[in-house]
Amino acid sequence: MIPAAFEYHRPKDLAGVLSILEEHGDDARVLAGGHSLIPMMKLRMADVPHLIDLQNIEGLDGIEIDGDTIRLGAMVTQSDLIDNAALSEIAPILKEAALQIADPQVRYMGTIGGNVANGDPGNDMPGLMQCLDATFSLLGPDGSRDVEAREFYEAAYMTAREDEEILTGVTLSAPKGGYAYEKQKRKIGDYATAAAAVQIVKENGACVSASIAMTNLSDTPVYSEAAGNALVGTAVDDAAIKAAVAAMLQDIDPTEDNRGPVAFKKHVAGVILQRAISRAWSRA
Ligand code: FAD
Repeated sequence: MIPAAFEYHRPKDLAGVLSILEEHGDDARVLAGGHSLIPMMKLRMADVPHLIDLQNIEGLDGIEIDGDTIRLGAMVTQSDLIDNAALSEIAPILKEAALQIADPQVRYMGTIGGNVANGDPGNDMPGLMQCLDATFSLLGPDGSRDVEAREFYEAAYMTAREDEEILTGVTLSAPKGGYAYEKQKRKIGDYATAAAAVQIVKENGACVSASIAMTNLSDTPVYSEAAGNALVGTAVDDAAIKAAVAAMLQDIDPTEDNRGPVAFKKHVAGVILQRAISRAWSRA
């Protein structure tokens, strides 16, 4: 399909982006990799009279690692996450998750900023960023501010970002312990029926901390503190995993769609989470 007519802007710097956003508000959208926005425009599910291309904007790319702190520029692609050896060394779950997104062609274009700013419950990075307790940096006419990934998502396609703000980057601490990103999809290139991001820290044979979030099982990503707490103080045996799954099932709220009915989605969520916890624990 062909999108509705739009005006294409290609500003040279962030000030130029902000002034167009300020002028047009909700009628303007930034374009990063375009692999969510352009299909939505073609399907006429998004009407964007003013499209602002971010490709020329300096300062939005780059992966910086400073000690334990990782900063990902908004225009870092999923492919960049996969190819950066230093990043994979200190945060291997990023590569494991990125490799499960779509296919290489999409990953060459799709950006971390677009994936987390989009607000699509099917995107993989939001849940992952909640698991990793990441922070999103936003820049608007009144300056910059930070919002925690766990506070960012309000409803499907609704986030804490204001219309005149741009997401400039994502900051996180190098995750500790064992990790797993587990995803069930109908076929290669599909969005998740259910996906789980898990980080577990083990000391003296027991779990001392666990962070768990799931994707596409509610209209926002689901970080479940209760699921993580169910593992803490245990040896992550079958009973503890069962308790964590039960806690997560209380927190998700899937709806029926072409990926299946609610009961099926809850079943898949349980299986995927169980696998993710077991794998993360085996690596802890
Ligand atoms: P764009 O499409 O350019 O933008 C998406 C939205 O975010 C727009 O509203 C845009 O205005 C906004 N935006 C972008 N950047 C910023 C910014 N810096 N600040 C503020 N707002 C911004 N994704 C998954 O997670 N998992 C999958 O399994 C998956 N499968 C896919 C399969 C196919 C066939 C395709 C085409 C896409 C798939 N995707 C999947 C989506 C893909 O990962 C997208 O590229 C990604 O979600 C959005 O990134 P983008 O850079 O393309 O953003």
